[in-house]
Amino acid sequence: MSQYSEAELPPLPYDYDALEPHISEQVLTWHHDTHHQGYVNGLNSAEESLADARANGEGDASAMRSVSHNGSGHYLHHLFWRNMSPDGGGEPEGDLRARIEEDFGSYEGWEAEFRAAAGWPAGGWALLVYDPVSKQLRNLAVQKHNDGALWGAHPILALDTWEHSYYYDYGPARGDFVDAFFEVVDWDTAAEEYEKSVAHFE
Ligand code: MN
Repeated sequence: MSQYSEAELPPLPYDYDALEPHISEQVLTWHHDTHHQGYVNGLNSAEESLADARANGEGDASAMRSVSHNGSGHYLHHLFWRNMSPDGGGEPEGDLRARIEEDFGSYEGWEAEFRAAAGWPAGGWALLVYDPVSKQLRNLAVQKHNDGALWGAHPILALDTWEHSYYYDYGPARGDFVDAFFEVVDWDTAAEEYEKSVAHFE
């Protein structure tokens, strides 16, 4: 059997009740321990299927698709948790702020576009990414975890808009959840991911 490194669920970087009242302890517990864990398990299961198929000299397209779905789910949740903090809120500063203003015209222009991505009717993700080909920041409206992706783009800010992310706390009022996200958004981790992209690609 081929070797692969087993994916593991990283712990939340804060307590389960740390984002209250904006995101409840119950939602974070379900979301991290059940949903995120499910994507980690799905990715590991797909890796096993791929390894088995390789051992038999075959290919498993279903497992390849599972890697895309579950792997994208795992990676985006890992970023999403780090993009929030009990000390969050406010607006970006420094180089990231300047780049947002350059690429979107203004911070307010960026936020309006990001909110539109978060309002895409099907559940998925609103993402702020760095696109290394056109060398600019972009917002992406993603359905599920991978429909709407842009190859090569590096996510720096992720907002989960699946119903499991907000329905228990906000019912159908997804916009209220997006408001809550902006109360706890951690721009420091977004800036770190942006700096990594720039160092790598520019
Ligand atoms: Mn989720």
